[in-house]
Amino acid sequence: MLIVQKFGGSSVADAERVMNVARRVTDTYRAGNEVVVVVSAQGDTTDDLIAKAKEINPNGSKREMDMLMAAGEQISVALLAMACEQLGCPAVSLLGWQAGFSTNSKYSAARIKTVKAERIRAELDKKKIVIVAGFQGINKYDDVTTLGRGGSDTSAVAIAAAMNADLCQIYTDVEGVYTADPRKVPTARKLDEITYDEMLELATLGAQVLNNRSVEMAKKYNIELEVLSSLKHVPGTKVKEVTKMEKMLIKSVAKDTDVARVMIVGIPDEPGIAFKIFSRVAQAHVNVDIILQSVGRDGTKDITFTVPAGEGERTVEALREYCDHLKAKKLFYDTEIAKVSIVGAGMETHEGVASRMFGALSDANINIQTISTSEIKISVLIDRADADRAVAAVHHAFFDED
Ligand code: ADP
Ligand code: ASP
Ligand code: MG
Repeated sequence: MLIVQKFGGSSVADAERVMNVARRVTDTYRAGNEVVVVVSAQGDTTDDLIAKAKEINPNGSKREMDMLMAAGEQISVALLAMACEQLGCPAVSLLGWQAGFSTNSKYSAARIKTVKAERIRAELDKKKIVIVAGFQGINKYDDVTTLGRGGSDTSAVAIAAAMNADLCQIYTDVEGVYTADPRKVPTARKLDEITYDEMLELATLGAQVLNNRSVEMAKKYNIELEVLSSLKHVPGTKVKEVTKMEKMLIKSVAKDTDVARVMIVGIPDEPGIAFKIFSRVAQAHVNVDIILQSVGRDGTKDITFTVPAGEGERTVEALREYCDHLKAKKLFYDTEIAKVSIVGAGMETHEGVASRMFGALSDANINIQTISTSEIKISVLIDRADADRAVAAVHHAFFDED
């Protein structure tokens, strides 16, 4: 079998962990499989590199930031290759460009265009374990690019797709995908299976256990993923198209604190205003999430929407001139909010899911500021200070048996 195994930063954080990963990889190799391994930077290396850059230049160019951040994964691949050699197995480390990753030129958020896997194939044919640096590629100018935080998951799925792998395993520091972040909610339960659509929502709504683009790609190429522990030998969670019917109405609760709320108060209540506002936001390349428009009163209305936390300031700048022109009463953003969501295909066919969620928040005396729903998720915006309590209360309402 051809197996792709991805190990995240905490799984290779120190020498002992690197040897642990090497044991898993070489065991898979010795069982007669072809093994391609994708690794992330050790522990907090990526954060540390970003901090180093900020000490020198808080606004370093994105090209140089990518050059810097890609260094973390270079260290991991070399160390892991040496660890495999130490255990008596031939291994070769490859950077993103050597492994054939071509991306577009959007530094720090590059999209993979193609993975030309000839070199990986050639090394596998030489009976080597191939260890690829996750999170990175090269653009048409031959410059190093990175795929965005958490991007190594996507590197692994891209290789699995390009090489038609039999298995794609994502090893991490928890045992799988849980009903809530197991580090925050001690009663969270591991799921045996979750659908691509549910996992995609969950990843997008803040559960960083898988990067959302990796799930999107896995769905597109029908690659079944397994999320499992790099330390314990126990079954993990399968991410796939269809899962067996379970009685679970929802699969998981997620929290996202990477949100800012932009508010425009007192704008004229007339046609075309929303169009003009959101055209300006789009021109500034800001992704808008939840939008709320108040009922018009005295010829004016309010529009509130959310954007990623780091883009709040940019959004307000993009709108300032237009809002002055409209004589809006107030234009501002705040980041003291969080989004708490429940996800599950089961809610589509069951009534009472929303009321159970809102009841749990009400019992915990947590005020809901905005609500947004789709077929398989319900999200609420609340004060950031209440976020962990809200996750616990909602999780309790759906998963803890009284
Ligand atoms: P890696 O370094 O292996 O890529 P990440 O830190 O990116 O690992 O993702 C794993 C983390 O995701 C876990 O340590 C856990 O705290 C967090 N997490 C959040 N929500 C969930 C969830 N529903 N199930 C499992 N883990 C979750
Ligand atoms: N090292 C990168 C990050 O910290 C990529 C990854 O971990 O997937 O975001
Ligand atoms: Mg990750």
